[in-house]
Amino acid sequence: MKKPARVFSEVIKHLFKKPATCGYPFEKAHIFPNFRGRIAFESDKCIGCQMCVRVCPAKAIEIPLSAEQPAAPAPVEGQPAVPAKKKFDCIMKLDHCVYCAQCVETCPKKALIMTQDFELSSVNRKDLRRHYK
Ligand code: SF4
Ligand code: SF4
Repeated sequence: MKKPARVFSEVIKHLFKKPATCGYPFEKAHIFPNFRGRIAFESDKCIGCQMCVRVCPAKAIEIPLSAEQPAAPAPVEGQPAVPAKKKFDCIMKLDHCVYCAQCVETCPKKALIMTQDFELSSVNRKDLRRHYK
């Protein structure tokens, strides 16, 4: 058993020490630059190649065709008609994702971006299924 004087000196020492924990959520959390958070999606860059879907180890990502497709560009006289560029959405299941960044590294068009957003908890499971358009 420690002697009272030693215990007292330990208490005094810890009173003036910098705390080992942070005050989150009452204080802003310190995020490290390479922190892996929620994946964001830029629809205008996506070509629908499905490579992100294939590499995802958690089956957390789907890339369906968007319900609304852009119109084909107006035909130019004397030139073959150019088909409309297909538009894709991204469905991200945040409760399946393990934030490994495989999809981000694999995407050839940089349409998936790793953000530092970590405040994703919810009591409603539906909130964890994000549909990006
Ligand atoms: S970060 Fe990993 S687990 Fe999450 S969607 Fe991308 S590949 Fe899948
Ligand atoms: S890998 Fe990139 S471009 Fe290909 S479907 Fe996924 S998000 Fe779209």
